[in-house]
Amino acid sequence: MRHFPIFLDLSGRRVVVSGAGECAVSKLRLLLKSEATIAVYGAQPVDQVRRWAEQGAIELIERRIETADAAGAALVYGANEDAAEDARAAGIGKAAGALVNIVDNLDDSQFITPAIVDRDPVTVAIGTEGAAPVLARKIKADLEERLPTSLGILARIGQAFRDRAAMLPMGRKRRDFWTRFYFGEGDAALKRDGEDGVRAKLEELLTDAIETRPRDGHVSLIGAGPGDPDLLTVMARRHLHEADVVLHDRLVPQAILELARREATIIEVGKTGFGKSWKQDDINALLVEHAAKGAQIARLKSGDAGMFGRLDDELDALDAAGIAWTVVPGITAATAAAASNGLSLTRRGRNSSVRFLTAHDVDGFAEHDWRALANPGTGAAIYMGIKAAGFLRGRLLMHGASADTPVTVVENASRANQKTIATTILALPDAIRASGIKGPAVILYGMAPRKAQALAANLEPELATEQAGAV
Ligand code: SAH
Repeated sequence: MRHFPIFLDLSGRRVVVSGAGECAVSKLRLLLKSEATIAVYGAQPVDQVRRWAEQGAIELIERRIETADAAGAALVYGANEDAAEDARAAGIGKAAGALVNIVDNLDDSQFITPAIVDRDPVTVAIGTEGAAPVLARKIKADLEERLPTSLGILARIGQAFRDRAAMLPMGRKRRDFWTRFYFGEGDAALKRDGEDGVRAKLEELLTDAIETRPRDGHVSLIGAGPGDPDLLTVMARRHLHEADVVLHDRLVPQAILELARREATIIEVGKTGFGKSWKQDDINALLVEHAAKGAQIARLKSGDAGMFGRLDDELDALDAAGIAWTVVPGITAATAAAASNGLSLTRRGRNSSVRFLTAHDVDGFAEHDWRALANPGTGAAIYMGIKAAGFLRGRLLMHGASADTPVTVVENASRANQKTIATTILALPDAIRASGIKGPAVILYGMAPRKAQALAANLEPELATEQAGAV
């Protein structure tokens, strides 16, 4: 982020615009929303600028800007549509200690003016670092449509009520009060009874909030999917957004954590097979501790919470403590990995069942019914299998699996750095090593990516690709 967004207090400050043509008009339209004192310098003002001057909205000086003119200015705009004149204005502005903007000249500007959605006192500023004005306009149009015009009125009345609302304890209770006001009841009251109705509604909601007892603690055990925030369910998003406390596994990416409220406490409780990791008992204790205080907790687990996620341990602890919970299902790594490679986990005439298994358990490499897995046409999604690849190959070949049984390995399924390799059970450990795959990765045993199926013969590791679905 080269340009850091801030909101500047221009109340009573001086803003100078050098240039009085069409280019200045579009900036002035924005500046006139502020409480700044605006001075415009330009020898040939267009009609609109003249009209604003006549109305007293701006001061118009019909000559070019001179050194003394920028004294005390907070901002100086170069809007002359003339590079030399803009550079001269910028020099004057900088010498006076003002921040300088040259219209449509990102590199010579010290700040840029965002696109604005105005629901004063609510203001949304949209910037694209000058990269995509079209995008900024589209976002602005979308927001204009989405934010009710009453929002500004509600916010203004709400602002005057903040002291009264401060009698509610900070945190969920106060937040719930404001949520009811801004998202539903405030707007309805305004439409029905006007601004007085809105003020009465605030009193009513406050009494209501004082009288209702606080919510009990609750834990949502949420399947956060394989990584792409688009693969969260609507329910997962809602529970995450409502949470006071978020406990997440190491595999849950930042882009998903961003969907939590800004005030939420976010705690990583990563468990890795190696290095520093949390003990399950400590995680259980933390869940119970926060829930006992009345917190709404989002416990984010990668993929589906019920797939190799020690869901039962946590549910048992919550049940023992009498804490209410909800499990929100998610997209598990195997289905995302299969989908992005156009691969069906079951297929008529090949495998009518599919197993989900882990190559690791508490005792190290996990044992399975290898004989059954070695049968031709068997399909399995193997989790935590990268370090166990040699072990898997050994067990499967020993129990009669065909050496050329197809295997697809998908690392970082659904993420920008997804990688897929197509190989065979015989070549699996070498193919993993050659591709540099470290995980998280899921091994789809008995399945070749769709493109590789078409190529039929060629199952060499050089099919490795950095691109989702490009195999
Ligand atoms: N509950 C998770 C699995 C947790 S176990 C789920 O349903 O997906 C952790 C293992 O999941 C990893 O070792 C890896 O095998 C797999 N995994 C998790 N995220 C993955 C991803 N984005 N791509 C590929 N495999 C992934």
